[in-house]
Amino acid sequence: MTGRDYNPIDPATLATRLDALLPQTQCRRCGFNGCRPYAEALATGAAAPNRCPPGGTVTLAALANALGCAPLAPDPAYWPAERPTQDFLGVAVIDEALCIGCFKCVLVCPVDAIIGAPKFMHTVFAAECSGCELCLPPCPVNCISMQPRAETLPTSDSMAPRWRNRHLARRARLAREGEARDEARRRRRAATLKDQAQGYDIAAAIARAKARKAGEP
Ligand code: SF4
Ligand code: SF4
Ligand code: SF4
Repeated sequence: MTGRDYNPIDPATLATRLDALLPQTQCRRCGFNGCRPYAEALATGAAAPNRCPPGGTVTLAALANALGCAPLAPDPAYWPAERPTQDFLGVAVIDEALCIGCFKCVLVCPVDAIIGAPKFMHTVFAAECSGCELCLPPCPVNCISMQPRAETLPTSDSMAPRWRNRHLARRARLAREGEARDEARRRRRAATLKDQAQGYDIAAAIARAKARKAGEP
């Protein structure tokens, strides 16, 4: 069953409305590259509203309501039955004694919640961690673990808008950095071509001079 049964109208507006119902952990468990892409797929009928484990049954019902359909059972392909919803709401903690400063976790954190620089110890800014767990697989020394969210930390519900903004800011930063890298590559290539062109000109000039000299009486 897909959203095609729900008569979506004005997909962009509907996607924004649906995105506001999603928990914004940006964990990709739904099979999309973040909450907004999933919301867009829901709005166009490309995905069903039962693929977001961090949202739990509350989000599942809210999505169905917004789409004008009955709540579906969680899709086990995206929602492992052996893990209760609460399991998805922890925070990452780095064992700093084991961290080798490889920076791999920083590269994948969708909300820029990890602080550290290459070759230095890293730490998670717990108040910003969405609990997405995306930093676990890349860590080569398995020094990141998920811990229960402390009562002193903001609730994941209250953090959703902030995580959305942090994710968007990260994507914008990555885009800027990508453009800067492309520009630097273009400049280096242009400089190389110019050097080569100058090199060819000099070689041609030397050849012409030699030919002239050879033709002298
Ligand atoms: S919280 Fe995770 S599973 Fe739910 S919509 Fe966002 S990215 Fe998808
Ligand atoms: S620190 Fe890890 S679990 Fe927390 S948001 Fe970043 S990638 Fe996700
Ligand atoms: S991936 Fe693991 S070892 Fe590498 S910087 Fe992050 S926490 Fe440290």
